[in-house]
Amino acid sequence: MKFALIGYGKMGKAIEQVIVDQSKGDEIVLRIGEDNLHELTAANLRKADVAIEFTRPDAAIDNIFLCFEAGIPVVVGTTAWLERLDEVKKECADQKGGLFYAPNFSIGVNIFFEINRKLAAIMNSQPQYDVAIEEIHHIEKLDAPSGTAIRTAEVIMDHMNRKSKWVLANPFDSAADSAKSLLITAKREPHVPGTHVVTYSSSVDEIQVIHQAKTRRGFAEGAVMAARWMVGRKGVYEMKDLLSF
Ligand code: NAP
Repeated sequence: MKFALIGYGKMGKAIEQVIVDQSKGDEIVLRIGEDNLHELTAANLRKADVAIEFTRPDAAIDNIFLCFEAGIPVVVGTTAWLERLDEVKKECADQKGGLFYAPNFSIGVNIFFEINRKLAAIMNSQPQYDVAIEEIHHIEKLDAPSGTAIRTAEVIMDHMNRKSKWVLANPFDSAADSAKSLLITAKREPHVPGTHVVTYSSSVDEIQVIHQAKTRRGFAEGAVMAARWMVGRKGVYEMKDLLSF
C-alpha cells in the first residue's frame, strides 16, 4: 500500500515508524513538512492510495480538500477544525471523497469514551455528583482544550441532562463555572504524551476514570489501521465505524 504523510512532525514520524514496522510491502511515497510544502500537490498525492494528515488546525482543511481533489481518501488526526465539519462533509459529498477523522486514534481512548458514555448514563440519576474533566499535554500543543477532552465532554453531555455546555476553566471568569457547565481544565507540561481524567465528585467520595498515553505509538497505530481500512472507500467515517463497540 502506498501512503502519503501530510505533516511530518511528532505524529508523522510515529506513523512512519508503524508503517515501517508493519512492513507488508508498504511504501511512503510522500512526506510533507513545512520545508517542502511546494511538493504538496494533487499530482503528487495521486501517487498514494491513502493520505494521513497530522498538521495544524489552520492547515488541515486545505489539505483535506486537496486530497478530495486528488481523489484519494484522507485520514485526519489534526484537531481543532471541527467547527467547519459541515462544510467539509459537504465538500466530501460534492467531490465524492473519502474522509476518516478522529480527535484520538488510540484504541484505549475509544474504550475510555465508551466507559464514560456508560458512566454518564448511571450518573444522570445521581445529582449529588458533579463532573469535571482535566487534560494534560505537551507545551507545544496549539489547541486547548484537546479534541479528546471536547469529545469526552460531548459523550458525557449526551447522557447527562444536568450539563448543557462545556467551558474551559478560567480562573478570571467565575461566571463560567455554573452548575450547568462541564468544566474542562487544560494543563501544559514538557514532554508528556497526553492524559485525560474524568472526575465525579460528591461531598462524601470521588470516582475517577483516567486515560494516560505512554507514547504516541497508540495514536499512530490507530491512524494506520484507519488508513488501511479507508482504501477504496468514499464518504465520512469515524472510529465507531472501525471499532466494534
Ligand atoms: P507537530 O509535531 O507540530 O507536527 C506538525 C507537522 O505539520 C510538522 O511536520 C509541520 O511541519 C507540519 N505542517 C505545518 N503546517 C503544515 C501545512 N500547511 N501543510 C502540511 N504540513 C504542515 O504536531 P503533532 O504532535 O505531530 O500533532 C499534529 C496534530 O495532530 C495536532 O493537531 C495534534 O493535536 C493532533 N494529534 C492528534 C492525535 C489523534 O489521535 N487524533 C494524536 C496526537 C496529536 P514542520 O515540522 O516543518 O513545522
